[in-house]
Amino acid sequence: MEKNTIAAIATSPGIGGIGIIRISGEEAFLVASKIFCPKDAFFNVLEPIPNVIKYGYIFDGKEKIDEVLVSFFKAPHSYTTENVVEINCHGGMLVMRRILEIAIKNGARIAEPGEFTKRAFLNGRIDLAQAEAIIDIITSKTDKERNVSLVQLEGFLSEKINKIQSKIYDVLIQIEAGIDYPEHEIEDVTRENIFSVLMESKESLKKLCDSFEEGKVLKDGVKTVILGKPNVGKSSLMNTLLREDRAIVTDIPGTTRDTIEEYVNIKGIPLRIIDTAGIRNTEDKIEEIGVEKAKSEIENADMIIAVFDISRELTDEDYEIIELIKNKKSIIIINKVDLEEKWSEKEIFEGKKVINISAKEKFGIEELENEIEELWKINNMSTNEDIIISNIRHKELILNALEEIDAAIDALKSDLPVDMVSINIKSILNHLGTIVGQNVDEQTINGIFSRFCLGK
Ligand code: GDP
Repeated sequence: MEKNTIAAIATSPGIGGIGIIRISGEEAFLVASKIFCPKDAFFNVLEPIPNVIKYGYIFDGKEKIDEVLVSFFKAPHSYTTENVVEINCHGGMLVMRRILEIAIKNGARIAEPGEFTKRAFLNGRIDLAQAEAIIDIITSKTDKERNVSLVQLEGFLSEKINKIQSKIYDVLIQIEAGIDYPEHEIEDVTRENIFSVLMESKESLKKLCDSFEEGKVLKDGVKTVILGKPNVGKSSLMNTLLREDRAIVTDIPGTTRDTIEEYVNIKGIPLRIIDTAGIRNTEDKIEEIGVEKAKSEIENADMIIAVFDISRELTDEDYEIIELIKNKKSIIIINKVDLEEKWSEKEIFEGKKVINISAKEKFGIEELENEIEELWKINNMSTNEDIIISNIRHKELILNALEEIDAAIDALKSDLPVDMVSINIKSILNHLGTIVGQNVDEQTINGIFSRFCLGK
């Protein structure tokens, strides 16, 4: 028989103060009873008082393995809605692995990545959008991203989608009533009502869809390229930004040899600085990269920070850069203002924000940061009323629903019989339902949960 009680190390691999082994399933207490000996001899591990923590030892047969604290959660009041046992042991890899092994030996099986959360979803405690929010919280790089994800976990997005769905569903019922009882002659009323519900839904969905741009910035960061001819101070600027930022999250080795990405958190805005020019590597300068590559970099970027050197005459390369970024969201940096100025024709940057800095003296950096904040106004986001979507799956489903809404509106406008739009309406309901996990195929579900880490 397939084992249905799962176990995994829930804390991150490596050494820590404590480690947690989590066991979930019908037999979680049975497994615990075979491996855990509480100090309190009257405590019944097989039928524990829920929500308590017990002190004791883990045994492998007769061998004492570790001193632990064990928490007991009784179905349905647990993360997975099943019986759950969490063993808090000492946080060494060996001891955690050993306890996991003992749990497996005594009736549990190893959980797949995301399986605990998948159970919470399959058992109906959370919907799919909420499950997705959990992984987003775990991978958040800034407070704002975490906040947007938390709002989603609390169910605000799902609630909004459900509300729209239920209005549209009412319309469908009206249409079908009309089809079944043509003598009721409610066609005109129905038509008007459908129209207004569709328009209203369109408005709400469009708003959600538009929020994706902000959501994406929060999640993936603002893809930023620092551009400038050699020696204008690109790497000095980047180092300054990195040094000022105490919350660098990660260095991601890129796909090509000379691509490095670094996250800098500027006033809560995650900048993903794409260092294709190898600007942190002094031997790898822009001249070796060539204009073609620079062009594609610029095209893919969300924002360009273009650096110019006030202490040297402008050259063709500078003008070329100005030309390249003409239609791009960009900030112009005039660097080395601590040195003597060799040019003053700032009108060449027409329409763009120009900031004077000295990367060396750390002058003007605050102004640059303010400008970045201004350009990406995510700091003013209110989160509860204005729900922000940051998940591409949600965006695509909303777009599909919007397409069907438009088709339905067109059909109504061209005076087709109302029952003709019921196909579109069913489709809209379907797309919206998929966001929260109704009628979602197994492959999609598995795809979503496989992105989770082990033990979650
Ligand atoms: P990159 O080639 O554009 O990355 O330029 P670097 O950051 O390597 O800087 C080139 C040279 O300019 C280095 O010697 C820096 O110390 C110097 N430099 C950079 N920023 C400033 C600045 O604001 N003032 C002065 N005086 N020198 C600077």
